[in-house]
Amino acid sequence: MQRVIVVGGGLVGCAIAMYLARRGVDVTIYERNADPRRTTTARPSINLTLCTRGLYALEQLGLREDLQRLFVPLYGRMIHASDGGIRYQRYTDNGDAIYCVSRRQLAAAMLDAVERRGIPIQFDSRVVSVEPERAAVVLRDAAGGEGRDEAACIVAADGSSSTIRHQLQRRDRFDYSQRFFARGYKELRIEAQRARGCLDPEALHIWPRREFMALAFPNNDGSFTCSAHLPFSGEHSFERLGDAGAVRQLFARAFPDLADLMPSAGEEFVAQTPNSMVTIRCRPWAVGRVLLLGDAAHALLPSYGQGANAGLEDCQILDACLDEYAPDWARAFSEFEARRRPDTDAMASLCERHFVELSEDVDDVAFQARCRLESELHARFGDRFMPLYSMITFSLMPYATAVRRAALQRQLLDELMRESRIEPCIADDAFVCRVSARIARIERELEKAS
Ligand SMILES: Cc1cc2nc3c(=O)[nH]c(=O)nc-3n(C[C@H](O)[C@H](O)[C@H](O)COP(=O)(O)OP(=O)(O)OC[C@H]3O[C@@H](n4cnc5c(N)ncnc54)[C@H](O)[C@@H]3O)c2cc1C
Repeated sequence: MQRVIVVGGGLVGCAIAMYLARRGVDVTIYERNADPRRTTTARPSINLTLCTRGLYALEQLGLREDLQRLFVPLYGRMIHASDGGIRYQRYTDNGDAIYCVSRRQLAAAMLDAVERRGIPIQFDSRVVSVEPERAAVVLRDAAGGEGRDEAACIVAADGSSSTIRHQLQRRDRFDYSQRFFARGYKELRIEAQRARGCLDPEALHIWPRREFMALAFPNNDGSFTCSAHLPFSGEHSFERLGDAGAVRQLFARAFPDLADLMPSAGEEFVAQTPNSMVTIRCRPWAVGRVLLLGDAAHALLPSYGQGANAGLEDCQILDACLDEYAPDWARAFSEFEARRRPDTDAMASLCERHFVELSEDVDDVAFQARCRLESELHARFGDRFMPLYSMITFSLMPYATAVRRAALQRQLLDELMRESRIEPCIADDAFVCRVSARIARIERELEKAS
């Protein structure tokens, strides 16, 4: 039985440890922080939305049923427009849902599952350096004591500020780029008794205001977590909102219905420093006997709600590579990188673009007409024409394929949007025939590219 070191006891570290243990690998997890289940913090947790990709991995690990109690299903977006109007956009006509979960609760449940499988987790054990050719790590405990460990290989799931990736960056021909988003966010709490009757608990709520926005995610206790997204500088920015009164004023003007639900938002807001969001791309992920995984390999902006989903999908794809190449770790790692990196690169670019859609386009009449046409075509042609959001969120289609297919579908949508009176034509035979022929062309182009 071979031994593998997993660095990082976050969602991805826990998931890959369980996948490896299923194969009979002897796994040890090193986590720099104390056990989060035994510590308390006043800060609200980030909420994640899990979709088909993340859920599929949890299902494979036999965790889906157990974790379901933590999930709140969301069937669509509720757009709170600046004119006071509220519009509901269902994700699909088939009742598909994404699942909202507190990242803290999910992380704790994953640690419980790891322990139930007898996988050792060493908390307060920070990896401070790595030797990729020997698969060795140097560790520092909370008291400053140092130790060393060595295994057959190392999976680095130590997040977007990965120590292991920093070490690899010093090597020749290691490419790395990081791009911070111009906006940051602060998390505010909406108590259950205030939210009840005012916010639909089965929707993601969005207040798009172009240069800034607010989002509200339901929790399983009826409360909501509000995420206020603002630029770091300029008008309506974190820099300008230095006191609770100014925050209250902006909220009352920009999101009056939301402001009513958060009487202490001003104080909560100024008590926090804004959190930044970053896109990270790097290569190679596989160096010697080390593999970067999850956010350590590819941090995504949260606009599409894909970071954790992508990290969990990484684990599932790596497991499939191990099915083919184990016990040749090096071959499995490089095959995994070759299959997976084009997808996460495509997703990184898409997430950067999608923030504009969330804060501007969702509230735009032309955008909504386009979405309606997309879902009409999806209803008429089924999986032959899928909206991009559905391909990313409700399928296991590789991200890069989804992005490529959406670009071709966009040309068709542009053509159709230029024609007037599309909706009455959808049932017309000649129209259906013409669109079907165009979709067949898209299918051929995709086949050629694959
Ligand atoms: C605001 C926001 C909203 C998001 N929304 C969504 C969403 O809706 N859906 C979604 O899928 N994703 C979302 N994400 C992304 C998601 O949170 C991350 O992609 C996911 O948590 C990454 O998991 P990870 O295990 O790779 O990294 P992390 O969760 O960062 O875990 C890394 C772990 O490694 C440990 N560690 C770090 N360095 C060391 C070291 N040197 N030694 C030992 N341990 C170390 C850390 O303490 C941590 O426990 C969101 C992110 C943000 C910021």
